[in-house]
Order: sequence, then C-alpha cells, then structure tokens
Amino acid sequence: MKKDKYNVAVLGATGLVGREMIEILQERKFPVNNLFLLASEHSAGELIQFRGTDYAVEPVSADYFKSHKIDIVLSSPGAAASSKYSPIAAKEGAVVIDNTSFFRMDKDVPLIVPEVNPEDIKYFSKKNIIANPNCSTIQMLVPLKPIHDKYKIKRIVVSTYQSTSGAGKKAIDELFYETVDILNSKAEAASPDKFPVQIAFNCIPQIDVFGEGGYTKEEIKMVQETHKIFHDENIGVCATAVRVPVMFCHGESINIETENDFALKDIQSLLSNAKGVKIIDNIFSDSADERYPYQTMVSGSDDVYVGRIRQDLSVKNGINLWVVADNVRKGAALNAVQIAEILIDNYI
Ligand code: NAP
Repeated sequence: MKKDKYNVAVLGATGLVGREMIEILQERKFPVNNLFLLASEHSAGELIQFRGTDYAVEPVSADYFKSHKIDIVLSSPGAAASSKYSPIAAKEGAVVIDNTSFFRMDKDVPLIVPEVNPEDIKYFSKKNIIANPNCSTIQMLVPLKPIHDKYKIKRIVVSTYQSTSGAGKKAIDELFYETVDILNSKAEAASPDKFPVQIAFNCIPQIDVFGEGGYTKEEIKMVQETHKIFHDENIGVCATAVRVPVMFCHGESINIETENDFALKDIQSLLSNAKGVKIIDNIFSDSADERYPYQTMVSGSDDVYVGRIRQDLSVKNGINLWVVADNVRKGAALNAVQIAEILIDNYI
C-alpha cells in the first residue's frame, strides 16, 4: 500500500548538494515523515533547519541503516563514501538516489533525467539504487531530448564553461580567497588545492583527471552518460570541459547535427514547449534579460535556459545552442528530488 509520508535520509547533508536537497524537499513539500541528516564525523552535531525545526547532523556508519527505517536516501557524500554506504542502505530496504559518479555506468542502475528517460526508473529494484547523471550531462540532454526525438541527433560537439560550485563547497572558497588575495595585491595567492592551477582570473581546460585519448574523466562521462540515457551508442559526442571563475551555474556551447532536415522555427517551437526548458533568445531586445541566458540570471532557477539558437551554416542540419543551468540545483539536488517524486508516485 502506498505510504502518505516517507522516512528520508540526506547523506552528505552539509555539502552544497545536500543542503540544496533539504531546501528543495521543503520547497516542493515532499511528504517527509522522519528526516535524517548524515555526513562525516567532521560535521556531526551541526544544526540544519528543515521546515522551521533544527535537525542535528549525524555521522554516517554502516550500522546506521540497520538501526533506522529509511525509505529513501538522497546521497551526495562523494564517490568513495557512496560506494561504501549506498549498497548497505539499499540492502536494508531504502531506495538510494545517488548523485556521485560511482554507480552511473552500472548496467543494473538506472541513470535518470526526469524530463528525458523517466520510464527507466522502473529498473531501480535491481539494486535499489538510481543514479543522477553528471551536472553537465543533465543540462545538455534536457533541451536535446525533443530535438533527438523528432530529428535524430547523430553528433554533439559541446564545450562547457563550468562553475566552481561543481567541485563542492571548498572549491567556491578557493575561487573567493584567490580573488581576494590577488585584488589585495598579495604577492601570491594561496596554492591551489581543488583545482590544478589558480582558478581566479583563469579558465582551466581540465576537469578531473586525464584519461584515454587525452580526454578528461568529465568529458568521457558526458559521452558515456549520453549513450546510456538516450539508449543510443551511435551518437557521436565530443566534449571539452572547462572550469571558469564563476561561482554558480554551468554554461555550455552545444553544436549538434541531425539526421533529418528541420526548419529552425520548429526547433525553437520544440524547445519552447519542452518540459524544464526556458528560452531567452531575443538578441536585439533592449533588455539584457531578454537577449540570452547568463549565470547570475539563472542561479537558483529550476529550468535549463537556452539561448543563441542558430543554424550552423557550415554543415548540413547543424544547430548551435547556448545552455545555462544551475548545476547544484537542476544538475544535482532538484534532479534527485524529481526522481524521488516519480518513485513515490509510481513505485513505492
Ligand atoms: P561538498 O560540498 O564538498 O560536500 C560533500 C558532502 O559529503 C559533505 O556533506 C561531506 O560531509 C560529505 N562527506 C564527505 N566525505 C564523507 C564520508 N566519508 N562520509 C560521509 N559523508 C561524507 O560536495 P558537493 O558539491 O555537495 O558534491 C557532493 C557529490 O555530488 C559529489 O560526488 C559530486 O561529484 C556530486 N555532484 C555535485 C554537483 C555540484 O554541482 N556540486 C553536481 C552533480 C553531482 P562533511 O561536511 O562532514 O565533510
């Protein structure tokens, strides 16, 4: 029998994604019965408000999931901790919705963007784990889905402009303190920790480690996750992921080629009717907010914003898009809560 309310644990509750999840559960009035906030030993006892009540953060342990009856775990404690705790929570009967990269390519774990492949959620029971894709993949596929359905995309070339919040709370601090140090004319900013080189006043063409063919892990994730979510291994995906000195929201310049001929007007119309997409594309408007989306406009929003919609004149059936989304929100926390909503409406 369907429950009225669910016991929800947020694992990684003190992180950027975890805190946003708590906010979104509250905003969307998710039917929470008991809420459990979990993180490492380091932040045990920290208080976080939910619906006007202070909740103390507890240190996660394997035994925690045995001694507490939890229905849903919203997980974002990093890949190593998730690989350890998610299977234990799942074995104890919870459904884990995991934001880390660890389970994304597991064939028994559905990888879900609710606007794109909600039907795949039904496979969750193989492991009781559902994976959230990488933030860059999510915001790319939300607007590409209706175009792919109608005109069949055969190739995607994407360059990302990724904000520092994509690398967690310490990464935002690193941008902030480096900027302050440099503006205060300190001889040298503190040495980089979260990024390979100074992020302040730089664009860094490296996110995560380098792998096969000179591509970074972030770039390879965008290729593999696109194939899994679209159920199409034949789409060519070429990604270049760049970290930029911006705090929130990733930008993406996306170029696609379709198999079938299209009229640009129809692409605009498909995008304006697409779920979760907002178009800002009046380049000649007197108002800056109507010309194209940008980071400070989009921060805190649920939608994936699309602008600069143009035909690529250098190739048959080519389209260019500029896409901006809040990486902590639609790229992680909101996507996970949307999955949880589908789960409780249909499956648990
Ligand atoms: P963050 O701000 O650095 O937060 C990390 C969280 O994980 C904190 O709550 C931390 O708790 C907890 N944690 C770390 N090690 C732990 C352990 N051993 N056991 C239990 N909890 C532990 O990072 P974030 O940005 O929230 O990202 C979290 C995960 O989501 C990462 O896997 C990331 O790749 C993924 N993700 C992030 C984004 C984004 O835009 N930020 C987007 C998509 C996916 P303490 O405070 O106790 O250390």
